[in-house]
Amino acid sequence: MRQVAIYGKGGIGKSTTTQNLTAALAEMGKQIMVVGCDPKADSTRLLLHGLHQKTVLDTIRDNAQGQVNLANLVAAGYRGIRCVESGGPEPGVGCAGRGIITAIDMLENLGAYTADLDYVFYDVLGDVVCGGFAMPIREGKAKEIYIVASGEMMALYAANNICRGIKKYAVKGDVRLGGIICNSRNVDNELPLLRAFAQEINSQLLYFIPRDNIVQHAEINRQTVLQYKSECHQAAEYRALAEAVDSNTRFTIPEPVPQERLEALLLEHGMIEMPEYKI
Ligand code: ADP
Ligand code: MG
Repeated sequence: MRQVAIYGKGGIGKSTTTQNLTAALAEMGKQIMVVGCDPKADSTRLLLHGLHQKTVLDTIRDNAQGQVNLANLVAAGYRGIRCVESGGPEPGVGCAGRGIITAIDMLENLGAYTADLDYVFYDVLGDVVCGGFAMPIREGKAKEIYIVASGEMMALYAANNICRGIKKYAVKGDVRLGGIICNSRNVDNELPLLRAFAQEINSQLLYFIPRDNIVQHAEINRQTVLQYKSECHQAAEYRALAEAVDSNTRFTIPEPVPQERLEALLLEHGMIEMPEYKI
């Protein structure tokens, strides 16, 4: 069983990418569980065709002890993908990472990690890398990590920061970075920039996902692109991403770069071939 955590800054496309990726892996015949670790609780919405998935925290809150079982925590999504949302506290109250800890404990105690699973994916926020959000890697659950990023400065800043967190756990255990997944924002020179960044942090650019409006169309229809338009170009991209993840053999301890180096990288790549501005 490969346990994979997907990190990245909020809004970068973690949930979209994770759901399209897992849909493609499921089409390859893989048995998968997706655990949403974002208080937003929208990590499995597309796989469930918009069905509102009650979170683990809400289920625990609304049920007497002993009445919480796998049937009310795990919903079956596209091609049998098992969908779980950890949930979070009311905004402004308590630690947002708490839900993740509770959810993983609960899933474990109830026997959700069955031997037939090929993959468990954790869709985790990466803006803050506090103890709660590091939970899937801290407790030795997910050993394999991918960071979703783009050529935008804040996305790379977050990716670099996440690397700091990963390194801490990697040096004392077997947590490894499997690579960077670029979810394109159509930034100038994005591909070479992401390649250079990945190399600089001692990793690889695993895949470059183009930006395509069909993702929004599918989202409005509450589906992954694979379900919405199985034969389209973007669906093929997600299938290729699934192949890249499934056959990946390069796992490293990341080496975060100093802030100045990150800025230099952006300057080096972002500034070449800039369109000439005419006044
Ligand atoms: P996160 O989970 O990182 O917060 P989401 O997966 O919710 O981010 O994505 C944020 C928005 O970006 C969504 O509305 C989604 O439709 C859009 N999006 C994600 N990936 C792509 C893409 N490759 N092309 C176009 N839009 C995308
Ligand atoms: Mg999300």
